[in-house]
Amino acid sequence: MNGNVKYTIRMYSSLSAFEKLEQLCESARYDVCLASCNSNSSGKQGRSKSPKNPNQWLFPRAMPGKGQVSMLKVLQSNACKNHCSYCAFSAQNDGLRRMRIAPQELARLFMQFVYKGWVHGIFLSTGIRDSPDKSMEDLLQTAEILRFKYRFSGYIHLKVLPGCSEDRIQTALNLANRVSINLESATLQGLAKVAPEKQMKSGLLKRMHWMGRSIKMGEVRSGSQTTQFVVGPSGENDGDILKTVDWLYRDLYVFRSYFSAYQQPHKKALPSTPNGLVREHRLYQSDFLLRSYGFRLPDLVFDDQGNLPLHVDPKMAYALKNPHLYPMEVNGATLLDLLKIPGIGPVSAQRLVEFSKSASLSELKDLRNLGVLTKRAAPWILINGKKPPILEASPAQQAWLFPQLSPESWSSGLIPLGKKVPSSDYNYPGQRGKMVNYPMGNQQPVYCR
Ligand code: SF4
Repeated sequence: MNGNVKYTIRMYSSLSAFEKLEQLCESARYDVCLASCNSNSSGKQGRSKSPKNPNQWLFPRAMPGKGQVSMLKVLQSNACKNHCSYCAFSAQNDGLRRMRIAPQELARLFMQFVYKGWVHGIFLSTGIRDSPDKSMEDLLQTAEILRFKYRFSGYIHLKVLPGCSEDRIQTALNLANRVSINLESATLQGLAKVAPEKQMKSGLLKRMHWMGRSIKMGEVRSGSQTTQFVVGPSGENDGDILKTVDWLYRDLYVFRSYFSAYQQPHKKALPSTPNGLVREHRLYQSDFLLRSYGFRLPDLVFDDQGNLPLHVDPKMAYALKNPHLYPMEVNGATLLDLLKIPGIGPVSAQRLVEFSKSASLSELKDLRNLGVLTKRAAPWILINGKKPPILEASPAQQAWLFPQLSPESWSSGLIPLGKKVPSSDYNYPGQRGKMVNYPMGNQQPVYCR
C-alpha cells in the first residue's frame, strides 16, 4: 500500500460515519458510470442544491416499470494507490482528504435512508487502497450486509475492480443487479498512457469476458454490465472508441457505455483537452444510433482524424453523406429506413410503420401527430411521392435543421456560434451541469432524430 495514502486514511478516520459518508458521496460524483442516475425526467440535475440536505447525495434513476427511483451514489473509500491521470483519487492528488467508511457503517446509514423513503438503491464504487481483491472485499461486505442482514431487495450497482479474482466477481454478480468495470480507453497504448497500473487485456477485458459469460448464461442476479471511457487524455479518436464499444456490445454482452469528457481533476494531472464536452455528446448520440437505430459502425461518418464531426449530429452527417438515399418515401418504408431519416426517432418510426399498415400518410401534419420533428424531416422525405413544403425557420433554425456542411469543414473542429446552455437542459446521460455550445441551444436533442 502507498505510504502516503495509509497515513492520510488514519488522519481522517476520526470523522463520524455520517461525515465520512458525506465526503465519500461528494467524491462519488466524479464517477459517471452511473450517469443515467444523474438526470431526471425533466432533464434537471438530480441532486438537491441544499448542502444541509442529505438528499443532495441522491440521484434519480429510471427503473423499468418503476418510474424514477432515488439512488445513493457513494465510494467505500476514496484512497487509491494507483496513478490514473484522469482520476481525482489518483495517488498523485496529495491534496485530497482520504478516508474509508466501514461496510457496517455504510450499510447502516444507507438503510436509515431507505427506511425514511429517501433512496431505493445504491451505486457503490471504491479506490484501490490495497490489492484489488482486498479493496473489492469492502464493497462485497457492504452488499452482503444489505442483502442478508437487512434483507434489502432493491437495486445495487457494484463497481468491479481491475485485477480482482474471478470468485470476487462471481460474488458481486450474485449480489448486485448491475456491475461495471471502466475500460477508460479504447486502445492498449491509450490505457498505458493514462492508467499505468492497469492492463487492458489481462486486467479489464478478461474480467468483462467473465462477467459477460455469466450474465449471458443467466446464472447470476446481475442482469447487465456497463463500462465507461474517458474522452481526450489518451489521444485516441472517436472511431477507436466506437469500434471498441460496438465490439463490447456484440461480444462481451456490455449493456451500455458511458463517455466522460476529460477535465483536469487536480493540478498535477494532464491539462483538459479541447472539445471534450462536444465529443462526449457526439459519442452518446452515435452510441444511441448503434444501440437503438439499427446503424452499423460503417454507417457512422468520421473526419480525416477519425473523429465524429463536431458541429453536425451523427445522423444528419449520415444523411448528408448519402444523398442518393433521400428524399425517402415514408409510406411503406421499413422501420430501419425510417430510422435513417433526420427528425424520426425509434418511437415515431414505430408509429409510422403501424399507421402505414392501415392508412396512408398524406401530409406533414400526419407525421407531426405521430411524433416526427417535421421541420427537421421535411427536406429528407417524400409523402405519396411528393416533396413536402420546407417549413419556415429562422436563420438560426435553418443552420441547425439543414446544415450545408462539407465533409472538409467537419475536420476543422469549428463549432457554429450559438447560445450557451447548461447541458442539464438536455435529456443527457452524463450531464453534470456542463456548458455546451450548440447552434440552437436547448433545441438540440441528444437523440439523433
Ligand atoms: S484505480 Fe480507479 S480510483 Fe484509483 S486512480 Fe485509477 S481510476 Fe482512480
